[in-house]
Amino acid sequence: MDFDVTILGGGVIGVALARALSHHYSVLLLEQHAQLGTETSSRNSEVIHAGLYYPSGSLKEQLCLDGKQRLYAFCERYDVPFNAIGKLIVAQPHQLHELDALASKARRLNIPIEHLNRQQLQAREPLVVAEQALFSPTTGILDSHTYLHRLAQHATDQGALLQCHSPLLAARFDQHWHITTEQQGHPFTVTSRYCINATGLQAQATAQRCGLAANQIPTLYPCKGHYFSYQGRSPFQHLIYPMPEANLAGLGIHATLDLAGQVRFGPDTQYLDAEHLSYQVDESRRALFANAIQQYFPSCDATRLQPEYAGIRPKLHAAHQPNQDFTLTPQWHHQQLAGLHLFGIESPGLTASLALANHVTEWLRSQKQTG
Ligand SMILES: Cc1cc2nc3c(=O)[nH]c(=O)nc-3n(C[C@H](O)[C@H](O)[C@H](O)COP(=O)(O)OP(=O)(O)OC[C@H]3O[C@@H](n4cnc5c(N)ncnc54)[C@H](O)[C@@H]3O)c2cc1C
Repeated sequence: MDFDVTILGGGVIGVALARALSHHYSVLLLEQHAQLGTETSSRNSEVIHAGLYYPSGSLKEQLCLDGKQRLYAFCERYDVPFNAIGKLIVAQPHQLHELDALASKARRLNIPIEHLNRQQLQAREPLVVAEQALFSPTTGILDSHTYLHRLAQHATDQGALLQCHSPLLAARFDQHWHITTEQQGHPFTVTSRYCINATGLQAQATAQRCGLAANQIPTLYPCKGHYFSYQGRSPFQHLIYPMPEANLAGLGIHATLDLAGQVRFGPDTQYLDAEHLSYQVDESRRALFANAIQQYFPSCDATRLQPEYAGIRPKLHAAHQPNQDFTLTPQWHHQQLAGLHLFGIESPGLTASLALANHVTEWLRSQKQTG
């Protein structure tokens, strides 16, 4: 056998998996593009989430809480730029009930939170107008590119082979996997005991190619989020979030700061047709953005909003359907474990990445012991 585990997809999840699994297994990772992490992993808000929003008991909640601790420790230890800058979740008079529910949830989960009235909020953020707010001091930002680079470095140091320019062409399981990729324009086949599908927006197509039963492949509902930067000096000291949308389709058009202090607003939510994915940012959304932002930042100057970039969430629910959890689906072949497919790894996937990698590694090792 060439490798114990082949990971398909070199985003933050695939690379975190390569790092965790290469402690125990020989690992190959195949990434279709010229570089790692150029899809969703470099098209997000770069926020380390506190873990406030997710359905109770969900993997999103569990892995976000665990992942946040791991990620801060990793950044500290391996010199990844980050800032636990803190976030204000702001509520208008008709949203106080939801804000209270969020505060109770935070207390239940032991997530530090401070409840602020209008005056206390104004003292911290003079330009933000809302009835009340929650301050989350454990929410932060990180340099996701350096983070991915460190993960890749560790994985490589531990012997994992991370291959870019290597799209999956075919995968067939017969006692073990025969995985065909492209190397310098020619098909090339490797053998592997397990295969892990971490191909993000392509996870459904990849699962089909790997022969996972159609009824085990959840429907993909790609949901685009646009960002606009706010030119000039930052009007804020913290991240500013309105109350989240009802089914967590998005967290509302919020303000994040990058490590250089530049403010950007976004992401909004626009469900796309899975056949037509595009990262284009349409200028005509400026008015929609300005309108949403002015609900909590009335002096927002729309002419300072500039189209920046967009990302696409690999959601497993349509608009107005309940939020779906991260879905990890094992693939069996005559009662032999062949692999694992990761579906719906949307936010908080970046925050959860180290915890998810650890969770999958522990699970795989337990299968090996019992299987
Ligand atoms: C708008 C937006 C904002 C977000 N904000 C945050 C945030 O602030 N905090 C947070 O914690 N999370 C956030 N997230 C979520 C986070 O970005 C994702 O959960 C995470 O990046 C998913 O990583 P991934 O490796 O699964 O996917 P990807 O980064 O998409 O990686 C999948 C990889 O698979 C490769 N691939 C696909 N098909 C093939 C094939 N056939 N052969 C070989 N390779 C293939 C792709 O090229 C790609 O590199 C956000 C997401 C979005 C969309």
